[in-house]
Amino acid sequence: MSRQTMSRTRVSDAELAGMTSLAPRSDFPLLAAQPHLHYLDSAATTQKPRVVLDAITRYYETVNANPHRGAYRLSAAATEAYHHARVRIAKFLGVADVDTLIFTRGTTESLNLVASAWGRANVKAGDRIVVTRLEHHANFVPWQALASAVGAEFVIAELHADGTIDLDAMARLVTPRTKVVAFGHVSNALGTVNPVAEIVGMAQRVGALAVCDGAQGAPHLDISVDSLGVDAYAFSGHKMLGPMGSGGLVMRRALLEQMPPYQMGGDMIAHVGDEHTTWNVLPHKFEAGTPNVEAPIGLAAACDYLTALGRGNVLAHERALAAQAMAALAEIPGVTVLGPPANRRGGVVSFTLADVHPHDLSQMLDADGVCVRAGHHCAQPLMRALNVHATTRASFYVYNDASDVEALAASVDAARRKFAG
Ligand code: PLP
Repeated sequence: MSRQTMSRTRVSDAELAGMTSLAPRSDFPLLAAQPHLHYLDSAATTQKPRVVLDAITRYYETVNANPHRGAYRLSAAATEAYHHARVRIAKFLGVADVDTLIFTRGTTESLNLVASAWGRANVKAGDRIVVTRLEHHANFVPWQALASAVGAEFVIAELHADGTIDLDAMARLVTPRTKVVAFGHVSNALGTVNPVAEIVGMAQRVGALAVCDGAQGAPHLDISVDSLGVDAYAFSGHKMLGPMGSGGLVMRRALLEQMPPYQMGGDMIAHVGDEHTTWNVLPHKFEAGTPNVEAPIGLAAACDYLTALGRGNVLAHERALAAQAMAALAEIPGVTVLGPPANRRGGVVSFTLADVHPHDLSQMLDADGVCVRAGHHCAQPLMRALNVHATTRASFYVYNDASDVEALAASVDAARRKFAG
């Protein structure tokens, strides 16, 4: 169903009022070129606005050189552009100490950095690591592997039936032996928004490291990482309108200074002796080798774009769309919507349709131009608890509007009739 011809039968006109997109679709070249596409997979990766593509092109056309290396002016300009991007992204994230923002390829690399560099130096046999049942594999497997390597105990905080964390049970798991409490800001599979302050409080009471996977937090919530109180916060730029391979880790300065580097090589050294090497200052200590300069350049442009949109509006917009989608899907016989009520989630709606495999369903939706994710969403421990192998997931972002909800519901309903018949 196209945006132009959408019918407004499933949800009332009053509900649809104001459900225009937050960002003009025309700002996104891919979406502008495909007006009938309903892109509902932004939790996996977002589309990129023209300003991000232009910032990257402009960098290559006017500034490109290896930063931190040359004494010539172009290299100095590349160093300056790279630094300026860090300043803008840190400001966007509410990080005052700019050099505690380490650029990585994204959340996965950031969490592996913490588990590997801090974890190997600080977690010992007999210690405990607590994660939650909601975690993406990126915030589950590195901790599980660390626990198994050092002989620590790895425990999982379970959920209530609606996909929210059982905080009382979690608090009982966080004992004085606990060295790490790792949790997601927002679940990519169910959309659950987690109470960061309460979880950080549990970690602080026992002196454990509070590590937050912000892959689904930073793109959607108007956050200040400094005020969250976490020790480490990981995020991915490609989920917030930025380029693939962009993202980072924000970590407390004292921890970054104490812990060993993650990777060794150029840029991260101060002095290399024949027997001993000393490390560069932050952030360079954790950014070995030639950096992917275009990634922060593009991400900084994405941050500016989100700021101009009004960052405080993003969650409300996608939550409204998710609520519309939940209501529309719930009317379709055989559909089960998983996860918490709309007011406790972001713009993610995971569901099943009777015994139709999510892969088959998503292929049928694709024929109608509706792009959704099907599978375990890198959350197999969660799927086991939900007693499903996979779900179909629609995820909304700033360029979505009510026509996307309408197309999703119409296409799922058509698929239901086809499978039933
Ligand atoms: N954590 C969560 C909650 C995610 O949704 C994702 C990606 O979907 C990741 C971690 C991994 O992010 P990336 O693949 O960008 O490293």
